[in-house]
Amino acid sequence: MEALPLLLQTGAKEVAVVGAGAIGMTTAITAQRLGLKVTIYTKDRFPDVRSARATGTWSPHSRVAMDSAVTDAFVTKWERMTRRTYAVHQSYLGLAGNPVEWVDRYAMSDTPFEKRPKTVIAMPGGSSDTFVDFEERVKDLTPRNEDLAASSHPFRMPFVRRTSTLRYNVADLYHQLESDFLLAGGRFVPIELNSAADFARIREKAIVNCTGYGARALMKDESVIPVRGQIAWLLPQAEVDYGLQYNHVSVLARRDGILVQALGADEAFGFNDPNEEPDYAAARDSIGVVATMFQPRTPATSAAAG
Ligand SMILES: Cc1cc2nc3c(=O)[nH]c(=O)nc-3n(C[C@H](O)[C@H](O)[C@H](O)COP(=O)(O)OP(=O)(O)OC[C@H]3O[C@@H](n4cnc5c(N)ncnc54)[C@H](O)[C@@H]3O)c2cc1C
Repeated sequence: MEALPLLLQTGAKEVAVVGAGAIGMTTAITAQRLGLKVTIYTKDRFPDVRSARATGTWSPHSRVAMDSAVTDAFVTKWERMTRRTYAVHQSYLGLAGNPVEWVDRYAMSDTPFEKRPKTVIAMPGGSSDTFVDFEERVKDLTPRNEDLAASSHPFRMPFVRRTSTLRYNVADLYHQLESDFLLAGGRFVPIELNSAADFARIREKAIVNCTGYGARALMKDESVIPVRGQIAWLLPQAEVDYGLQYNHVSVLARRDGILVQALGADEAFGFNDPNEEPDYAAARDSIGVVATMFQPRTPATSAAAG
């Protein structure tokens, strides 16, 4: 929606999108809805795109940018984009396959919930910075942010907070997006661009670049920095239909699997780490933490929980 006014200004009726991740697919479909003929040029398609590896939580404020890079214009634009994506994703609720749905998440703690202090991040090049924190700006969009009394939950931890949030069942969402794109006459063309000059190989002259992390190498844009770590997958279980968070580990049950994610002790975890190798020891550790989430209450923990 942000790119489309620029595309329309060109007057082109046939446009190209490069990349078929979450951003490429949604950009292409949005352009089609305005009557443009869209071709997606891409190296990979689902399930090989990085978007297929996301946890699947609606978390627009998570690690968006560094404080030093933010201007008032960026904040305004971020909030506009966030509210639009929220509204658009409401239209995917209730569809067959449940590409998007609401889910309850339970955060658990042994100590009272307090806002974590900002972590100072060592930036490439030697400076330091902190992540922006926009969570409060869109708090009104996620209902049910409530602390639970011990009598209303089964966990042994004394502090439990429930929120409701949008969950993406990523396999279904992709199926939906690709089907919508193809039904509206869209076409995929396999291509790998090796430098900015390679955009000239594309027939259409109005092009939206949606290469995600790939833009770092393609455009030599070192401001694109990887920020997340390891995710382990467990088999889906129909009866597990919620999210959990405790002790730096997050769990999100989706219809296509249960995702267990190591969050790290602070925001520096996984920052600027391009390693994509699975780390089985880290996965096992995280699953070990999940086991502790379900330890039964003892007289001592019951007393602590009040
Ligand atoms: C572990 C993890 C968990 C995450 N969890 C969440 C979450 O819960 N919620 C959330 O909102 N976000 C999450 N994210 C972030 C989210 O996954 C990304 O922000 C998002 O998927 C980026 O989408 P994209 O379309 O920009 O990029 P990508 O999915 O990377 O797509 C890029 C596309 O461009 C193509 N491409 C790239 N380079 C070239 C080239 N040179 N030539 C041709 N084609 C090219 C690729 O083939 C691909 O089709 C998570 C990320 C990670 C790593």
